[in-house]
Amino acid sequence: AGQSPQRSAAEVGTPKRTKEIIAKYGFSFKKSLGQNFLIDGNVLNNIVAAAELDKTKGALEIGPGIGALTGRLADAAGRVVAVEIDQRLLPILNDVLSDEPHVDVLHGDVLKLDLAELFREHFQGVDGVSVVANLPYYVTTPILMKLLEERLPLQHIVVMIQKEVAQRMAAKPGGKEYGSLSVAVQYYCVPQLVCTVPHTVFIPQPNVDSAVIKLTLREKPAVEVEDEPHFFNVVQASFAQRRKTLANNLTALCGKENREALTALLHSIGIDPVRRGETLSLEEFALLSRSLLEKGWGR
Ligand code: SAM
Repeated sequence: AGQSPQRSAAEVGTPKRTKEIIAKYGFSFKKSLGQNFLIDGNVLNNIVAAAELDKTKGALEIGPGIGALTGRLADAAGRVVAVEIDQRLLPILNDVLSDEPHVDVLHGDVLKLDLAELFREHFQGVDGVSVVANLPYYVTTPILMKLLEERLPLQHIVVMIQKEVAQRMAAKPGGKEYGSLSVAVQYYCVPQLVCTVPHTVFIPQPNVDSAVIKLTLREKPAVEVEDEPHFFNVVQASFAQRRKTLANNLTALCGKENREALTALLHSIGIDPVRRGETLSLEEFALLSRSLLEKGWGR
């Protein structure tokens, strides 16, 4: 039954089929490309289910590998576009997905692609697109920041990533996991940890723990910000040295000569200068960045 072209795509995410395909094509994993393939049908199904796809919707997959997730996305969505950097995987993907006319496999580096153009070319007439992927861990943050900052018309981003990074994305103020990544992600999205997964669901097994996170894009950012680059500068500066107080970290941005005025400003907006950046909510960061901008500091 494993040879049946009809079902071959959905069967790829099993240990047996994965080993067969790797042997058939003489494929060798490249650690430098973050190649850890999923071999657990339940985990693959959970990822697809979290994306809330149907035949009116599109899915963009980053790094299809040998197509374990791609086949299941093809079953669930009306159109699938998969971007793979490793040329050696393209003949495998063409074989595995040969019966899936609504799947486009593109060769390229997702970080270099013009995604707005990809959307125009491949997702015409589709009622909402979600990114669904088991991401290469070495570029998780650049990929996610590119997706968010380019303001692509996305519904959800459901991705397998390093567990520790997923926890930082979903962290609330007050803990050591909360940082500039938490603020950036939560500015654009509502994060939800879907599940954590053991090493054993991958081949080869990564040496870090993994988790699936679902980011639901907000219609507009969580807080009102007049100048986004300035807002993110202020956030970065506030977390620059985590053991330092907010006033100390912000002095680097505002200038030593403005130290006293900065302390007074923080008091005036109800933020104690001895607090640490990790205790500030998104609303407080927005208020802080607006007040600093009015003074012309940090721009
Ligand atoms: N989706 C497959 C699965 O779950 O079995 C493979 C996931 S594997 C963790 C990551 C995949 O991303 C690999 O196939 C790798 O070659 C590809 N990749 C790595 N860097 C990439 C990049 N910059 N752009 C596109 N694909 C990339």
